[in-house]
Amino acid sequence: MEASIEVDGLRKRFGAVAALDGMSFTVAPGRVTGFVGPSGAGKSTTLRVVLGLDVAQEGRALVGGRPYRSLGEPSRHVGALLDAGALQPGRTARNHLLWLAHAQGAGARRVDEVAELVGLGAAIRRRAGSLSHGSRQRLGLAAALLGDPPILVLDEPFTGLDPQEAAWLGGVLRGLAGEGRAVLVASRLMSRVQDTAGHLVVAGRGRVVADLGVDELVADA
Ligand code: ADP
Ligand code: ADP
Repeated sequence: MEASIEVDGLRKRFGAVAALDGMSFTVAPGRVTGFVGPSGAGKSTTLRVVLGLDVAQEGRALVGGRPYRSLGEPSRHVGALLDAGALQPGRTARNHLLWLAHAQGAGARRVDEVAELVGLGAAIRRRAGSLSHGSRQRLGLAAALLGDPPILVLDEPFTGLDPQEAAWLGGVLRGLAGEGRAVLVASRLMSRVQDTAGHLVVAGRGRVVADLGVDELVADA
């Protein structure tokens, strides 16, 4: 599958609120696309539509050229990190990953690979309920990577990480993009995203207010 995301003219209202008002942008392989904007700009709603968790009233969202809901084995195509919600607190991080891997037809070797890639370290043997927020973010990212998908969609991946961890995660995401993946990172924190992204989509009030390549941003360098 081609590594791309296309968001084209999405409109969605919740009652009187226009959450999405013509949201359009594309995510290409090879660089991280940062999706920034203030709370309420429509970032989460856009990601939910991209991931088939919600539907827009107008427009379309395609992953690898197809609607998410038409993908046969979604986890092989698209990895998602939303809020690291659905963890069973009594299960160890490793058992959580083994359980997800099993459901995807992958094995323990893949679990150990992704745990290494995201730097879970000794946290992999701890119960999910006792993990720090940063470790839970790493666990969520590991889960998203299990199926080795060409497309990644991450909502606020830097939340709860200290500056060093955030810098490290930025490097991991750039590496994943550099291998040819399409990587979309939504965040309220412009400062975190600007160090990581090669492409910035700025949202406000349900639409894109700026769409910039990073070479345009460093014109003063
Ligand atoms: P962001 O992720 O950028 O903070 P959201 O997509 O969460 O923005 O929200 C965009 C707008 O849509 C906000 O005004 C929010 O309150 C509203 N909204 C989002 N989801 C719902 C919902 N399920 N019901 C009603 N309003 C919603
Ligand atoms: P974020 O700012 O990261 O989008 P929110 O707290 O705005 O987080 O939204 C969290 C969840 O609540 C999302 O699933 C969103 O769709 C939903 N939501 C947001 N605003 C509303 C609202 N006004 N009414 C109902 N659900 C909402």
